[in-house]
Amino acid sequence: MTSRHCEKCGYPLFEKDGKIICANCTEEEEESSQLATDAALHLKRAELLTRLSETKDLNEIEHILKCLHFIKELI
Ligand SMILES: [Zn+2]
Repeated sequence: MTSRHCEKCGYPLFEKDGKIICANCTEEEEESSQLATDAALHLKRAELLTRLSETKDLNEIEHILKCLHFIKELI
């Protein structure tokens, strides 16, 4: 335990593996993986939009639109 306290919640900060962490807000990893997911989804959406503008296949258009709809719900 260190003598410092978390800026967000005021909990005492711990030192682990050379990093200062708060036992109460340990969402740091979740947040960064959420950001990675968002980034991947945005990238995928851009790819799908490109494909959508290029394809004339109705089945593919339908499929792409469904995928875009799912992505929209996730981000
Ligand atoms: Zn905290």
